[in-house]
Formats: sequence, structure tokens, C-alpha cells
Amino acid sequence: MIIGVAKEIKNNENRVGLTPAGTEALCKAGHTVLIEKNAGGGSGFQDESYRKAGGLIMSDKKALFAEAEMIIKVKEPLPEEYELFHEGQILYTYLHLAPEPALAKALLSKKVVGIAYETIEGPNHSLPLLSPMSEVAGRMAVQIGAQFLEKPYGGKGVLLGGVPGVEAAQVVIIGGGIVGANAAKMAVGLGARVTIIDRSLERLRYLADIFGSRVVTVMSNSYNIANWVRKADLLVGAVLIPGAKAPKLVSREMVETMEVGSVIVDVAIDQGGSIETVDRITTHSEPTYTQYGVIHYSVANMPGAVARTSTLALTNATLDYALQIANKGWKQAVLDHPGLAKGVNVLDGKVTYQSVAAALNTVY
Ligand code: NAD
Repeated sequence: MIIGVAKEIKNNENRVGLTPAGTEALCKAGHTVLIEKNAGGGSGFQDESYRKAGGLIMSDKKALFAEAEMIIKVKEPLPEEYELFHEGQILYTYLHLAPEPALAKALLSKKVVGIAYETIEGPNHSLPLLSPMSEVAGRMAVQIGAQFLEKPYGGKGVLLGGVPGVEAAQVVIIGGGIVGANAAKMAVGLGARVTIIDRSLERLRYLADIFGSRVVTVMSNSYNIANWVRKADLLVGAVLIPGAKAPKLVSREMVETMEVGSVIVDVAIDQGGSIETVDRITTHSEPTYTQYGVIHYSVANMPGAVARTSTLALTNATLDYALQIANKGWKQAVLDHPGLAKGVNVLDGKVTYQSVAAALNTVY
């Protein structure tokens, strides 16, 4: 198969859909890999590394799209890319079609086979191509929180881990899923006092087993949340109700009880945020604002700041499916793997994923 790797054009998007290692694996399997010039530059992968791995560098984006049978990307195509696709071409990327009717329309009219990272399923309905970014964001949440707790960044001047004779800071994490567990790992590693609040008793049991006495696990209800938010030096929002807007679990009044110079990192901002005072999306260039003396961080694409790590983490998860699609052709690959079949969102001019069809108000 001829595979094309497009350079991302979204503002501040430095990730790339395939690394030199992935290029080598696909070439060794007998495929041709076309890499758009400087596609990996933002993640620290130079054209030369792709060339050495067997890839062909192309500076003509249009020609790359015309030749490729499968396009590998990271983010959904932008309007200037819509015209580049052709009938029967496979697009393998994060698609997020539900809020993007114009993109859906373009892919339907071009009869593209759109395979979305975000809906490919692993065992137990897990989402294996979303998890790597949650791992990155969870770990970053504590790193970022630690920085903004420093005085020069407006924080209260507290070191997360404390030192002998001085107590460690209190980290409170609401939502103990992938983001929450990874945030806890970092916070525990730095020596902070860590509390995880979740509504799932099963999940709390798991976290208690993993972390033992290094974390306090607490059942989620407004009484417990109010009690722990008051004590938090760093509050991390990490809840998810799949397919729904994040519930507002921390009220304005609760935030008012936090000490001046405390920090909130609401990772769940991409689903609307779980904290009432988190009322806007911030950016990497202006990541914070202050309310009630508390620093608020609500960047919706946190992994973008660590593009190299994120590219490696993402492609670790995407490459195996890319190989299956390329080796077998998409039809056989989805027949052999029902989880991969869940990734097919558009096909032959039709929407093939139920919730996307519902969001777009079209037939499924
Ligand atoms: P997950 O499904 O693994 O975990 C969510 C957890 O929230 C679950 O354990 C669930 O039991 C818990 N939860 C649900 N309702 C709750 C409630 N009322 N009280 C307490 N806990 C509750 O999800 P995840 O992968 O950890 O993702 C968490 C959020 O982070 C999602 O919104 C995701 O989109 C977001 N995210 C954001 C970024 C970013 O850059 N900002 C990056 C990655 C993920």
C-alpha cells in the first residue's frame, strides 16, 4: 500500500502521525511511505531520519495526497485539506466528526474511508488510542501544578514534596481514571500528600490496591468534595462521563474556600470542565487566569506542549492498527478486528458510527 504522512497544519500542532520507527516497520512490511517535508520537525524527527528508515520525502502536499491510498495524520483535516482527498482513500487520524459537520460532509462527498482513532475499541470498551494522551495529560497536570505553586508564577510558594521537617503539599484529584491515576503517580513520586476522589467504588478499590497507603481514596459526593477542595494546594479535575459534558463537581463557593495561591488544573476542560470557576479554555501561550486568588489552568490540548513524548506515545498505540490496515486492506482488517471496525466513522458516502450520525442528524 502507498501510505502518506501529512504535516499537521493546525495552529501549534507539533505532533506527527508516524515516526521514523513506524516508517521502517511499514517499509519492511513491503509498503511505500511518503512523508511530507518537515512533517516530523515539531516532534524532533528530521526528514533525514525518515529517509534512512525507507520513507520518501515529498514537498508537494497535493501530490502526496493524490498518490497515497492511506493518509496518516494526528488531527482532523482542516478546510484547506478537504479538497485533497479522493474516493476510496483511507484517512487514519483523530476525526472528532460529531462537532464538525463541514468536515463530515467533505469526507462523505469524497467517499473517504474515515477511521477515527477516538472510536477504535480495545477489550472492555476501552479506547486504546485515547489513553496515551490521557496518560500524558495526567502526568503533566502535576508537573504544571508544581510550577504554578511557585511564587514567581503567582502561587503560594509551596514545594509539592516538602522537605524533612516541612509538610508536603496536598494534591486532590477528582476522577481516578487514566488521567487521575497518572496524576497520582507523579504526585506520589514527588512526595506530595495525595487524595483521589471517584464515584466508582470499584475504581477506588483498584487505586487503593495500586497505591496502598501512598494515597487516600474518597467516595465522590458534594460533601466530601467540599471538604477536600478546601484543603487542596493543587486541585486536578480529571472526571469523564463518556459522551457527555463533564459534570460541574466543584462549585464556585468551594473554590472560594481554597487558600490564595493554590492551583487548579482542570484536565477535563475538553469536555467542558468539572469546576464551576473554569469558565474558559486557555492556551499554551496564556495558560492561566486567577479567580478568588486561585490560579486556574485549563488548556484543552495539554499533550501538544510535549509534542515529542506525545507523538511517541500516540504512535506506539496507532502503528499496530496502521500495519493491519496496510497489510490486509481495510476491509479484511476490520473483519478480523471488531474493535478496529468501531473506528470506521464514514465509508462510501455514509456515516457508519451511530453517535456521530446522531450528532450530525443523519442516517446511520
Ligand atoms: P477515564 O474514563 O479514564 O476516567 C474518568 C474517571 O472519572 C472515571 O474513573 C470515573 O469513574 C470518574 N468519574 C465520573 N464521574 C465522576 C464523579 N461524579 N465524581 C468523581 N469521579 C467521577 O477518563 P480519562 O481518560 O482519565 O479522561 C479524563 C478527562 O480528561 C476527559 O475529559 C478527557 O477528555 C480529558 N483529557 C484532557 C486532555 C487535555 O489536554 N486537557 C488530555 C487528555 C484527556
